[in-house]
Amino acid sequence: MQYEAVIGLEVHAQLLTESKIFCSCSTQFGAEPNTQVCPICLGMPGVLPVLNKKAVEYTIKTGLAMNCRIATYSRFARKNYFYPDLPKGYQISQYELPLCEDGYLEIIVDGEKKKIRIKRIHLEEDAGKNIHDPAGYSFVDFNRTGVPLIEIVSEPDIRSPKEASLYMKKLRTILRYLGVCDGNLEQGSLRCDANVSVRPIGSTEFGVKTEIKNINSFKFVEKALDYEIKRQIKLLQRGEKIIQETRLWDSQTGTTQSMRSKEEAHDYRYFPEPDLVPVVVSEEWIEKIKREMPELPDQKFERFIRDYGLPQYDAEILTEERALAEWFEEAVKLGGKPKEVSNWIMVELLRLLNEENKDISDCPLKPIQLVELIDLINKGTINRNTAKEVFEEMFKTGKKAEDIVKEKGLTQISDDSVIIEAIKEVMEKNPKEVERLKNGEEKLIGFFVGQVMKITKGKANPKLVNELLFKLLRE
Ligand code: ADP
Ligand code: ZN
Ligand code: MG
Repeated sequence: MQYEAVIGLEVHAQLLTESKIFCSCSTQFGAEPNTQVCPICLGMPGVLPVLNKKAVEYTIKTGLAMNCRIATYSRFARKNYFYPDLPKGYQISQYELPLCEDGYLEIIVDGEKKKIRIKRIHLEEDAGKNIHDPAGYSFVDFNRTGVPLIEIVSEPDIRSPKEASLYMKKLRTILRYLGVCDGNLEQGSLRCDANVSVRPIGSTEFGVKTEIKNINSFKFVEKALDYEIKRQIKLLQRGEKIIQETRLWDSQTGTTQSMRSKEEAHDYRYFPEPDLVPVVVSEEWIEKIKREMPELPDQKFERFIRDYGLPQYDAEILTEERALAEWFEEAVKLGGKPKEVSNWIMVELLRLLNEENKDISDCPLKPIQLVELIDLINKGTINRNTAKEVFEEMFKTGKKAEDIVKEKGLTQISDDSVIIEAIKEVMEKNPKEVERLKNGEEKLIGFFVGQVMKITKGKANPKLVNELLFKLLRE
């Protein structure tokens, strides 16, 4: 029997507000433990939370970007459970009335657009962080307690581990475009729980699902789901049952381990948060936020194809990061040909950024520098190969292309006599190859051009070398 996977993701994203959701403590990452706390986020008796308006605005923004209905009336709820990183004994979250519902976002699977529906987006507070010291002590850092989080819950529309990571990437891209979350997976700004079940292909009912917690990278979301799907199929093939449970992904072993079954699941005893009034959002506010929305990745993607004639592939990569798309457009505005600029970005710039582990927002190379470099190629000052060398040098030193070419003496040789000299030298050294070429073995042209390039240290104008080579052969 053939099985298919059914997957739904619950993604938590930390909002980029300056202060926490219910108090004025800073949300800055990486501070000394317990230096960004106050009686409110520490859950001291008698304190009262006050809702951060920016957090609500960011949630609405996200909801709009993901095509959700924004609730003009929503409510916070208490989710009760005990854990050392939760000093109040409850988390303030949203339950039956979330801020955003019924949206979707689109991913591209094998060149085809696919909609993944979003069930809800709600706002809640983060818990603290337990730190387990190898010496056997445990510590709690409450700096993270009360940092605003949104939880984005998808419908079970995802059908493969690949789609799951595409969905997560798209989510991240949108959140970063909006500036509501930095999307930093390593620092935990974006965390994912994956729900998965399998069913015989053709079946319309869902199977029993398991939930995998603790996934903190795109690679792991695929690996964890892959593992879990195989595990479930194996059980079913043996005639066993899947039990509904929460499992933990262990990246060390590449497996998932049972954490707790449904029977052990918490009963959170949700009830409306009595310390907060319901959240009333006016239509005017929603309209205002709509007007302030930036161009979103999908719109940019369509526009890049339409206005710049870029292939889908290029447009997809260039619009993945807003800062990268802006870098590209700046270069085009300064006179670069779109496809040419795109090639340089996709092949050289992204490679170098990746090698140096740098983000496009702290890219040392400015768009104008690339445009000037392209000009030098078009004017014939340098050839394409040399240009790659210059590009890398510009990236590393921030110098202008022209200066690098001068300093390093990289100007292309377009002087016929110098090139002829070099060709003659190659011909004299390789008489047999000359004969073979004359007898029509065209593939030897590459060999001759290569040898000439070697003699001229890569600076000969390749077009001229070709032309002159044929001229000399005919003589
Ligand atoms: P629960 O009540 O167990 O938390 P929810 O209905 O809230 O379940 O769904 C949680 C997540 O699990 C959602 O992302 C949803 O899409 C997904 N999900 C629900 N049922 C299934 C299923 N049978 N297989 C895979 N994912 C599922
Ligand atoms: Zn505080
Ligand atoms: Mg749920």
